[in-house]
Amino acid sequence: MPDKILLLPDNIANQIAAGEVIQRPASAVKELLENAVDAGATEIKLIINDAGKSLVQVIDNGGGMSETDARMSFERHATSKITTIDDLFHIKTMGFRGEALASIAAVAQVELKTKRLADETGTYIEIENSVVKKQEPIAVAEGTSIAMKNLFFNVPARRNFLKSNNAEMRHIVDEFTRVALAFPQIFFSLTANNQQIFHLEAGNLKQRILQLLGNTYNTKLVSVKEDTDYMNIYGFVGKPDTAKKTRGDQYFFVNNRFIKSAYLNHAVMNAYQEMVTKDSFPMYVLFIDLDPTQVDVNVHPTKQEIKFEDEKIIYAFVQAAVKHALAQFSVTPTLDFELDASIQQLSSIQQPFTEEKKSAATSGSIFKGFTEKNKAHFIEPTNRSESRESGVGSEGSGENIQQSMLNAQHSSEISPIHGSPFTIHDTNLTQLHSEYILSQTASGFILINQQAAHERIIYERLQEAAKGKAVATQRSMFPVTIELAAADTVLLEELMNDLQQLGYMIEPFGKNTFVVQGTPADVAQGNEKQVIDSLLEQYKHFSNDLKFSKREKLIRSLAWQQSIKAGRQLSEKEMEALVEDLFKCKQPNSSPNGNPTYLEFKKEQLEKMFQKPL
Ligand code: ADP
Ligand code: MG
Repeated sequence: MPDKILLLPDNIANQIAAGEVIQRPASAVKELLENAVDAGATEIKLIINDAGKSLVQVIDNGGGMSETDARMSFERHATSKITTIDDLFHIKTMGFRGEALASIAAVAQVELKTKRLADETGTYIEIENSVVKKQEPIAVAEGTSIAMKNLFFNVPARRNFLKSNNAEMRHIVDEFTRVALAFPQIFFSLTANNQQIFHLEAGNLKQRILQLLGNTYNTKLVSVKEDTDYMNIYGFVGKPDTAKKTRGDQYFFVNNRFIKSAYLNHAVMNAYQEMVTKDSFPMYVLFIDLDPTQVDVNVHPTKQEIKFEDEKIIYAFVQAAVKHALAQFSVTPTLDFELDASIQQLSSIQQPFTEEKKSAATSGSIFKGFTEKNKAHFIEPTNRSESRESGVGSEGSGENIQQSMLNAQHSSEISPIHGSPFTIHDTNLTQLHSEYILSQTASGFILINQQAAHERIIYERLQEAAKGKAVATQRSMFPVTIELAAADTVLLEELMNDLQQLGYMIEPFGKNTFVVQGTPADVAQGNEKQVIDSLLEQYKHFSNDLKFSKREKLIRSLAWQQSIKAGRQLSEKEMEALVEDLFKCKQPNSSPNGNPTYLEFKKEQLEKMFQKPL
């Protein structure tokens, strides 16, 4: 029998290897940006067309490459960053595996232009499917430009796996954000389809956070900074009232490399303890610097997962540092409607942050372990004036959106209940714990969850509206201009048409800016900015749920947003309206996400329960 093993041709081997490194346009964005950073650039421009499917280009003013290096850079395992295996454990650069350019060249058409400062001329190389098509001298400025065109043109199966342009664009913005956050001293820009989305002047970390994550964090950042012999931590965490429904704005960097770590995230969440509810996520941008020998970054091809020599120490350190930072300022809540009722009820929010509490937070053994004298490290005094700013009081109209939704549905005459499986006995309704409504029925009683019920009501109404006649819009007397973070701009543009159908009149108004011309007739005006922000937030919360259409996600988000929450006291009339509307619904017994809207208790059951067991 003949032998059967063959060596794969280079281009196929490269294509297979590329699968690990380049999964989507955003992977190339990450690799190319990191190469530019490693090259010492002070200015890095990212250009995207067609969500990166037709073009991802990075232009930098870094050190550039010689003619030979330019050609070599596309070889697999070709790197200038390590020479021995030992180097791997002292890594200071973002790259080191020498795979990115080889992978990109295996699955796309690539054009490289590069020149070193000292060289007369630069080098131009065209390569596709791992084959060099052209190489010639070229006159260019110092630095490097790499354009990746038509990703996966030669691997149609993988091209088909790419998501919609909006989804791919969001991945790109994510990667861009991570690199740009880690290097605030470098200028970055991002241009997509000829429109500049980001223009980030070099500055400090705080400025970079505001540029990227939105100015709303301006007065809401608490500085974290602790230095020890073993490691340093610095960065910012959001005040508890910036906690959001999604974990979007949470960033950990180890030696300037963005990493995903559920473990370290847990450490931060632990530091917030009672200050935020379980299902909300405070923002943080934290940098841990430690001796590279203490981390292994080579456990995953995309280098987003790392191993620490001693994870437990890092956990305790992160937790202690964040606790310390949070203890430095008074937790003054801003009681606006964005804040969940459940948050408002937390005792740590309702009570002022007293000196005793502060000392309780700082007297924990872990905290002491890191902060006491003679322990070979010291703590920087936190800048009081910066972290002392208290939150701004809530503005906006007195009536909130939920209130007016209730009022709008609140018909003056109480008509008989239609869809109800039982007769509500009388209109004597009782609210329990500002959360449930108790109502007697002919055969017992029911307990209604007010939020779940209201969500169901709004959900069905919006579904009707989405199918047929658009929701009536009331034009604002004073149209409001809102400015969004760039990533949210992309999202809002995606949702614009559907929002129109649901009664929101929103128009683009230049860079990252929109004018709200009108809102649904029964939604109060005056809170437009908050309404849009929290809507996008909620939408992102649903975003990973692939089984829902865009419109379904939007309707679910709006229903959640506009619903009265647990914790709201209801008047007799409001309760009546709610119960009545609930049982007019097609599916009154569950909320849109499937939780029961009410529980029924039968008289016979009650009687049985009260009997002495035999
Ligand atoms: P790695 O970054 O892991 O070394 P890459 O495939 O990303 O591997 O790049 C290969 C080599 O090409 C790098 O080690 C570097 O020497 C060179 N290189 C890549 N991009 C640039 C750039 N923008 N400027 C200068 N040199 C670059
Ligand atoms: Mg690289």
